[in-house]
Amino acid sequence: MKEFPLARPYIGQAEINSVVKVLKSGVLSLGPVGQEFEEAFAKRVGTRYACAVSSGTAGLHLAILAAGIGYGDEVITTPFSFVASANCILYVGAKPVFVDIDPITYNIDPAKIEKKITRRTKAILVVHIFGQPTAMDTVMKLAKKYKLRVIEDACESIGATYQGRQAGTFGESAVFAFYANKQMTTAEGGMIVTNSKRVYEQCKSLANQGRSANLQWLDHNRLGYNYRLDELSSALGREQLRRLDWMIAKRRQIAGWYTECLSEFADIVEAPQTAPGNTHTWFVYVVLIHGTSSQRDRVIQALHNSGVASKPYLPSIHLFKFYKEQFGYRRGDFPLSESVSDRSLALPFYIGLTKKDVKEIVSRFITTLTRYGNK
Ligand SMILES: *Cc1c(COP(=O)(O)O)cnc(C)c1O
Repeated sequence: MKEFPLARPYIGQAEINSVVKVLKSGVLSLGPVGQEFEEAFAKRVGTRYACAVSSGTAGLHLAILAAGIGYGDEVITTPFSFVASANCILYVGAKPVFVDIDPITYNIDPAKIEKKITRRTKAILVVHIFGQPTAMDTVMKLAKKYKLRVIEDACESIGATYQGRQAGTFGESAVFAFYANKQMTTAEGGMIVTNSKRVYEQCKSLANQGRSANLQWLDHNRLGYNYRLDELSSALGREQLRRLDWMIAKRRQIAGWYTECLSEFADIVEAPQTAPGNTHTWFVYVVLIHGTSSQRDRVIQALHNSGVASKPYLPSIHLFKFYKEQFGYRRGDFPLSESVSDRSLALPFYIGLTKKDVKEIVSRFITTLTRYGNK
């Protein structure tokens, strides 16, 4: 029986060669490849600057710091995300104020933001979840009206567009991530993009122990971190970036096969939808089933036994224990986010899956669902 993992990076010979070349060069950090990767990345997204960092989480931390967010500030964000997008707000002593999601994209619902704005609100941190951008026109209008910063967590949505414009080009800064399951990978790594020279220089400095570009090695003029991306990872990223359009096209093709195969089961499975005005770059392929979260968990277990990996995607952040304890969030606070969290399931999704594979996965999934999903 063929087994299907949830995700798998696509690594070609060019990536292997470029990493070996760095190893042989003797320059393993703070070298020319990192700089080249940053320049190529900024060009691809269409921003003036890009600052490579050691992870998406590190990038979010620096983007928050560069926005001047600190103790006592409030940041409006979504509960339906990977935990890092809210944790980075906690890192600086600010408070995440959650707003429920849009039922099509699962991104923050911009229509619900305004009534959460207070005198303490400093920023809106949107997350473009699963490969599809947030409706940025309303977000940007609100930001202008109330003089709020906008930070985009674009970690799952590289290459996606909203009304023809690239995710990551709307806010003061945006962050991308390159963990091994993302659309492109550097193993671990991330990138902050911005059009602001101030934000760029601050991020570069903070990622490198508080040194400015013109400082000597042991001069530090602010509290900084070591969030640098090494040359090996940068070389990997530089090659992945060259194939990005091809990899996105492949992901779209596989998503299309899934949607086609699932269409005849629309009464028991909800396939993902793309909002008008958006293009989708498919970080994951997530379906919703009917029933409770324990039924969904049973389906995942049974699918696992049939050789198909799947996962709940994603738990709502406000229901994690430390968020509930610190901020008093409760079940029922964000019903749409909770409903997606309870019923969602990510199916195997990676370059290399054939149409035959997708048919086989869907067949095992539907068999499992009809057996375990409604009991
Ligand atoms: C992957 C991801 C991040 C960053 O993750 P790292 O593992 O730190 O690179 C942040 N936000 C979202 C929504 C993500 O999916």
